[in-house]
Amino acid sequence: MAHLRLLAPLAGWCSSLEEAPDPVFAGRMLGDGVLIDPTSATVLAPCDGEIILLPATRHAVTVRAAGGIEVLIHVGIDTVGLGGEGFEQHTSPRAHVRAGEPLISFDMDVVAQRAKSLLTPVILTAGRGFGILRRCEDGPLRAGDFLMELAVGESDPRCVSDSTAGGVVRRMHVPFEHGIHARPAALLVNSIKRLAAEVQVSANGHQADARSTVALMSLGVSCGDEIVIEARGPDAHAAVEALAGVVGAGGSVAAAGAAGAPGGGASHRDAAASSAGGASRPDAAASCPGDASPPDSAMARLDGARVMHGVIASRGLAIGRAFRFGRPEVSVVEAGAGVPFEGTALENARAIVAAALRQRLETASSTGREIVSAHLELLEDPQLLASSNAWIAKGKSAGWSWRAALRVSVDALRDLNDSRMRERIDDLLDLETQVLLALQGAVPASTDIPRDAILIARDLLPSQLVSLDATRVGAICMAAGGSTSHAAILAAAMGIPALVALGPDVLEIENGTTLLVDANAGLLQVDPVEAVLREAQGRLAARRRQLAEAAAAAGAQCRTADGTRIEVFANVGSLAEAQAAVRNGAEGCGLLRTEFLFLERTEPPGESEQAARYQEIATAFTGHPVVIRTLDIGGDKPIPYLPLPHEDNPALGLRGVRTSLRNPDLLRVQLRAILGVRPFGQCRILLPMVTDAAEVRAVRRMVEEERAAMANASEVAIRVGAMIETPAAAMMAGSLARAADFLSLGTNDLTQYALAMDRGHAELAQRLDALHPAVLRLIAETTMAARTHSRTVAVCGGLASDPLAVPVLIGLGVEELSVVPSALGELKALIGTLDLRECRELARNALEQESAGAVRALLARRRESNAEVMR
Ligand code: PEP
Ligand code: MG
Repeated sequence: MAHLRLLAPLAGWCSSLEEAPDPVFAGRMLGDGVLIDPTSATVLAPCDGEIILLPATRHAVTVRAAGGIEVLIHVGIDTVGLGGEGFEQHTSPRAHVRAGEPLISFDMDVVAQRAKSLLTPVILTAGRGFGILRRCEDGPLRAGDFLMELAVGESDPRCVSDSTAGGVVRRMHVPFEHGIHARPAALLVNSIKRLAAEVQVSANGHQADARSTVALMSLGVSCGDEIVIEARGPDAHAAVEALAGVVGAGGSVAAAGAAGAPGGGASHRDAAASSAGGASRPDAAASCPGDASPPDSAMARLDGARVMHGVIASRGLAIGRAFRFGRPEVSVVEAGAGVPFEGTALENARAIVAAALRQRLETASSTGREIVSAHLELLEDPQLLASSNAWIAKGKSAGWSWRAALRVSVDALRDLNDSRMRERIDDLLDLETQVLLALQGAVPASTDIPRDAILIARDLLPSQLVSLDATRVGAICMAAGGSTSHAAILAAAMGIPALVALGPDVLEIENGTTLLVDANAGLLQVDPVEAVLREAQGRLAARRRQLAEAAAAAGAQCRTADGTRIEVFANVGSLAEAQAAVRNGAEGCGLLRTEFLFLERTEPPGESEQAARYQEIATAFTGHPVVIRTLDIGGDKPIPYLPLPHEDNPALGLRGVRTSLRNPDLLRVQLRAILGVRPFGQCRILLPMVTDAAEVRAVRRMVEEERAAMANASEVAIRVGAMIETPAAAMMAGSLARAADFLSLGTNDLTQYALAMDRGHAELAQRLDALHPAVLRLIAETTMAARTHSRTVAVCGGLASDPLAVPVLIGLGVEELSVVPSALGELKALIGTLDLRECRELARNALEQESAGAVRALLARRRESNAEVMR
């Protein structure tokens, strides 16, 4: 048992923690400690240790000392609300500090005037097996004086759990990148749904019911903040474990939705590619270094016209007539017609909305599904329900009560002043409208929208967008909104050009006014002059012709101009995407990301559920191969019910096939489900994140065992392929080709690992380019090895959907591309113009370049000169 001495971090008056004007501190919910009324304004380190928490608001700091003891110094009470104003940091997270070193300083006047209190708790927040041996007397202290002495035993530096009278308590630090926002909140709520316990989560001096997503979000917990989970009741232990499991698995739960980066990350690039049916792709190339193609807009040159500037949310060009599309104003009466009547009315309305949402869940894209799921979760939120029922009990109408309950939560979220909560506010307002409409028996009809309407709105609700008939909408122009809002993401996914943040003037445009939306240049032109309109119509017509020709030809087998067969498959993640892919001419599915089945739930899908979903997708691709990738989780794609050990660097940890081999039962269920799909042989199995042939052989053995054990076992062996996503796999492609039946290059991960640049790193996003010669050389290595062993090699990463890259890939020997469904027609048409010999020459040249920029410049020059020849 060691001893640890803590020094006073501040000068001032020391007193008992019970005197803190906050029940969380006073009740020792965060841990034991003392209270200092400061007379000095620089917090000193109370001991040697590591800074493990220093939030952006700089109002608190936690030092972890030897033995895992964590000392939190929380300057003042309710100071998180100052948003960092008046605070200055002298150290940074993960820094190792010596006792007495300055950590943060603060402006006493600002804190005294703006916060609830200057009283500063010094708390021991974690460390199993410590005891306070002695502490200083209540009274005056100088900074650096003796504060307390601890006896330190065994410790767990990351969390501590102890049973208090009748309850179980656990403290943890939140690893979610964006704190407890909607998705982690929903996962936390889900994890304890079936457990009998009363569970509270406290943070930042506030407490929330762990069954309410709204309450959890309102805590305003940021990444790195400490939370205290406290449960009582028969399942208290299980509830704390379940919540801790979600937090422990955390880190990248948030990132799962936001994963991807330009040049590599699939999700962002895929979304961009699907926007405006591929219209965004030439622009993507146009912004490349060395690309001399002119911007796709003439708007900026116009004289005397009324032009508004907005932020591009979804690229494209559209001409149409203004159509004001507002959030329906639903009025409600305040007085109720009796508690039973109003209570039943609210129940029924919620049931109607829930049924409509569930139906939408069936057909929604993966982005739409996320939004609809969030709405379903909020619809069941116990806090919202309790609060509406309380109003009803006071004699108010169902509508008035529902609105009142939601508006309290909206205000609470607004008070957090956190831009990420904006979407949650939209979700709540959206849900308010849906239930109020259901109470009145009304449903907004998308058929009211005239053809080629340019929708003008302050900002659109996600549900309004999900229910729009996209074929009637030319473009969307919003006065408010941001380019990453749900509405913006949805517009892009639906292929509707959209501008946001146009300002309030846009709302003054009269219905029926002719508008030209150039969502490639961020411009809206009101009533354009005839010449401008004609020019834009010309561009639109040419673009439509091009896309129509591409779509018409998309059904045909794809060959280069000299007759080389190139199969063009689609990457899909749901039945809806599979159907869209088939319509767009996919010759098969080159990558079914099965994660969609496993995310956003509390337990894994069973064999029959998986088999049914795979069968639906295989049936949609009748007669064409479907490559089903086994579950690719871990790293940036965690699932809460499969807790993986804490990893300092999850991208280099248990991911893909490594996770599957570590959880063979989960893998075998999935293999049986795939083997159950008929006709046998249509499906192939693809293994993610392979590094050597032993992994392929291990899975193949399992496949064969499961096949042999099946009642109606087929004689035909199913094909098993390996993804080439790590430099190791590319360099060992020869032995992988011997062990596998086919290879598929995952250029998103291959690029992140080859360039050592995180695919989610915003600052490196510009440089994370799969056309880097280093990545191209790994691709070349793979195709050569595949040819030697007579294996096909596909590219299913984001690079395959980039028209600029396609000639190089073909030149390097790639025979199959698996791309986002919206890019199919255009890419097949492009391939039809290519000549294999030229592609090879281009690839050889690309491999010799010094950088991705130089490769892009080379490819852009080639494209320009080809366009010249065509003219
Ligand atoms: C890739 O890494 O290129 C790939 C296709 O897999 P994912 O994007 O799903 O990681
Ligand atoms: Mg990958």
